[in-house]
Amino acid sequence: MPLMPARFGLHYPLWSHGRHSGDLLDRACGEMGIDHLTIPVVTGPMCQFRPAWFAGEPYFHTEGGLHFRPDARRYTVAGARPRMARWLGQRALLEEVCEDAQRRGLAVWFWVELRRAPSLFEPEPHLAQRSAWGDPAHPPSACISNAAFRELLHAVLSDLETRAPHGFALHDLALDDLQPIPDSARGTASICFCPACRAVAVEHGVDAEAAARAAQVTLRSAPDWRTARTDDPLVEQYAAVRLAACAAALHRLIEPLGSGRCLVPADRLQRSASASPAGFPLCGASGTRASPPHGSAVYLPHARFRCRTPVDDREAQALVRDVNEAAAGSGAIDFYDLEEAHPGMVDVLRQAVRYARRGP
Ligand SMILES: [Zn+2]
Repeated sequence: MPLMPARFGLHYPLWSHGRHSGDLLDRACGEMGIDHLTIPVVTGPMCQFRPAWFAGEPYFHTEGGLHFRPDARRYTVAGARPRMARWLGQRALLEEVCEDAQRRGLAVWFWVELRRAPSLFEPEPHLAQRSAWGDPAHPPSACISNAAFRELLHAVLSDLETRAPHGFALHDLALDDLQPIPDSARGTASICFCPACRAVAVEHGVDAEAAARAAQVTLRSAPDWRTARTDDPLVEQYAAVRLAACAAALHRLIEPLGSGRCLVPADRLQRSASASPAGFPLCGASGTRASPPHGSAVYLPHARFRCRTPVDDREAQALVRDVNEAAAGSGAIDFYDLEEAHPGMVDVLRQAVRYARRGP
């Protein structure tokens, strides 16, 4: 048996909670026996083609933004204004789904990818990450170094906290900006040289202009920017200072939110996961300074499986095996894009979850 049982959840977009939502959620709960919902509440542009589940409205597209109605009072000090996704209109779907989940005994996690929401920063270009030449990054992404972005993030999380989620999946914050600096031209191309990052570098005694020029020279002279290795010490110094500042900014997320609850950074949670006796390792961390009894955890799924309908039995069996393997490592497992698969996919997932729960 695995040390801690894996928990299974459904990545459940609010726009799927329409006329036919009952079927999808009923089957996920009743047949697959999921433990939680991961609800994308802030996203970039999204589109789905879902002809099997939503015959009358198979195509869905949103420009992204907040998929809930923000409480304007919480954003008065934020340096950027929140923008709601247009599809939502006047509906209070997030509240509806949270209540529904509670009735069904499901934990609810909010999936937030604020940096990827272009509707957030296209009208506010000062938030965008920029290349060494000063061009906005592609795909567009907001920079953590920017104080206005951090204020907005804090306001969004404080606002969402009032819906009492089990925690947050801060999808685009914990990963790329906290990874070690890659000593490659591709890595150099991804380093942000926005005015906020340059200011951070200057504060730490690094000549940001010279670093940007060095990055340009490195990239121009690389035989292939996608594969070449690089070792410019000034660029590395600039990137290190920037990364440290981003990491420090993220760690300040553990400061209490408006409700008095706190966030725990994902890296700490992952370190403490193996020591957690709770079975759901990301549900609160021990040994951190911000581990209040009501702390809201940052949640990152241990594994995510895209729900592509298997073409034959062999593919279905491979999926069952893969899910079982992921479950042996415990943690949380999310299934996503179920709306785009054939309804028969639920049968495959039911087998996968049952097999994984039974253990080897
Ligand atoms: Zn930047």
